[in-house]
Amino acid sequence: MLQRRQKQKLTIRLCSPRGFCAGVDRAIQIVVLALKKYGAPVYVRHEIVHNRYVVDGLRKRGAVFIEDLAEIPDRHRDRPVIFSAHGVPKAVPADAQRRKLFYLDATCPLVSKVHKQAIRHHRLGRHVLLVGHAGHPEVIGTMGQLPEGAVTLIETVEQARTFTPPTGSKLGYVTQTTLSVEDTADIVRALEERFRAIHAPAAESICYATTNRQEAVKHAADGVDLFLIVGAPNSSNSRRLVEVAERAGAKRALLVQRAAEIPWEEIGGISVLGLSAGASAPEIIVDEILEAFADRFDATVDVAVTAEETENFPVMRSLRDVELASADMAFVHGSA
Ligand code: SF4
Repeated sequence: MLQRRQKQKLTIRLCSPRGFCAGVDRAIQIVVLALKKYGAPVYVRHEIVHNRYVVDGLRKRGAVFIEDLAEIPDRHRDRPVIFSAHGVPKAVPADAQRRKLFYLDATCPLVSKVHKQAIRHHRLGRHVLLVGHAGHPEVIGTMGQLPEGAVTLIETVEQARTFTPPTGSKLGYVTQTTLSVEDTADIVRALEERFRAIHAPAAESICYATTNRQEAVKHAADGVDLFLIVGAPNSSNSRRLVEVAERAGAKRALLVQRAAEIPWEEIGGISVLGLSAGASAPEIIVDEILEAFADRFDATVDVAVTAEETENFPVMRSLRDVELASADMAFVHGSA
């Protein structure tokens, strides 16, 4: 008789909090509710959040993703267009108004707060330094709140030490919401050492979700053989979690979008796995990955809780008359 091979024991340290933040959840709800209220198609400028699974799920329901408002055909000028959670430059709503489009702005309220801080610095006569990554839609959106030349992007400590501010200008800074807490502290320190009178934003720019997810990974990483972060390659906060895991002691850390991307043949010998998810990664994929490990290992899940999150950002008033059933969000949250 064939002996069943015993599965290898595996401890999974599952981080909490992980995955969707209040801003991502709200942005997805806005698309879902707009589809319910106005029917398909609903246009979405840029990926509503940086996650292919989410984008494909919404596309199946009738969302059409575009990068430029000019892509909306004339016959669909009456259809809603939604701006993504990352925020948009001021020129985008202005363009929508010029084209007489009906738009819904799903910018996360915490990104809008950074916009307001940058505008405030500018109003008070300060040249604005934005700590962030070039090309990220949030950075493009924040820079686009102010006239050209009013903002200098700072990406590294080296740039903080060497850039030349406009002559005689006062300075104020803000940061992207999804940066590494530690790297940003180094850059801000370099700025403050060089410019004693630089003005900080009135409130911390890195958001609660970024901070909490990095803290949870840091807490769980020591002694971990492999740390998997569920998230997309273009998700800033997910990529930062991989770096945090490696720095905090994980032997290896990988970003994966689905269970099918896990390099099973390379990870046979692990005994402790860390698992978390970026703020735009749905819980249903975390469940898929847990199941994939349970199929292959004798797995025990230890939930490592480092913070409780109660943040909830309501959708705009114009969509509050549509009921959001749990089935409407089951494609990302699962049906449990
Ligand atoms: S990561 Fe932070 S800033 Fe970005 S959508 Fe989530 S809560 Fe908002």
